[in-house]
Amino acid sequence: MRVLLADDDAVSRKMVAAMLRKWGYDVFAVSSGDEAWAVLQGRDAPRLAVLDWVMPGLDGVELCRKVRREMPGKDRYFYLILLTAKTSREEIVAGLEAGADDYMVKPFDPSELHVRVGIGKRILSLHEELVATQEALRFQATRDALTGVYNRGAALKRLEEELDRARRECKPLSVLMMDIDHFKKINDTYGHLVGDTVLKETVRRIQGVVRSYDVVGRFGGEEFVVILPNADGDIAVRVAERIRAAVSAYPVTDGAVSVSVTLSAGVAAAGTAPTVDALIQAADEALYQAKRTGRNRVCTAPTLCAA
Ligand code: GH3
Ligand code: MG
Ligand code: MG
Repeated sequence: MRVLLADDDAVSRKMVAAMLRKWGYDVFAVSSGDEAWAVLQGRDAPRLAVLDWVMPGLDGVELCRKVRREMPGKDRYFYLILLTAKTSREEIVAGLEAGADDYMVKPFDPSELHVRVGIGKRILSLHEELVATQEALRFQATRDALTGVYNRGAALKRLEEELDRARRECKPLSVLMMDIDHFKKINDTYGHLVGDTVLKETVRRIQGVVRSYDVVGRFGGEEFVVILPNADGDIAVRVAERIRAAVSAYPVTDGAVSVSVTLSAGVAAAGTAPTVDALIQAADEALYQAKRTGRNRVCTAPTLCAA
């Protein structure tokens, strides 16, 4: 683990650095608060810092204050230990109030510094775990567990964002609503597990033919939405057609079972339906048109159909 050490006194700096190294830390030593501030702003900055108080330029307490004020990061926490010859109660209180996590007075007992740095390391690893858990939860809350694509709520949120952006940048945007044909029959014939395999494989094939910045979501049971930023109605029809062809190109296999799958798609362009609700509704109506007129086809809002 890396530790930043800031002390303007060369003797004290060398001594503390040698101790930290002996305890297995990777030490980055600087001789001023300004240098320490520059290091902490780096992309891969050490998260634990041992700071002297009195230094030229930015002193240790000002540095603590600056870190807390300007890098309040929920995702990035810095554990700051003040190590100083200032020993009065008022000074200790002032140092901790400035944002230091811990305070040690010089001269100090090496074993005490050892355990206090260890505490910082423990706090930082707990914080890292917390951030990772939050990230995992955030990911789970936006994903469909079976297929891994956005769930309905997250897809609608993305559509709202993409629609805002399209409006701002005067770019086109289209939406595809797609539904697997006679999916109930697949479940009834082969069972739910095969049905699940069909859903996963359908998503895989959809993702295989869209661009990386297109947004795929599972809207409901066997219904999927694809948001196509920067695509007008004509392009969207071509993408929908590509998806339709990819899904029906060859059967989905699950063990010994081989299932032919088709889907129907409805296309709506933002130019004709400028709100999220209107866009979804238009794509939905086009999808039902595709179902009514024979399935395994792409229809465009309001009524144009291509078999
Ligand atoms: P249509 O061509 O008109 O779309 O007919 P359909 O049979 O595809 O549509 P319907 O809405 O009648 O049936 C959808 C079925 O999808 C019913 C439901 O039990 C099934 N389903 C929904 N979610 C899942 C799932 O996660 N896994 C599986 N295996 N089936 C699901
Ligand atoms: Mg000093
Ligand atoms: Mg269906």
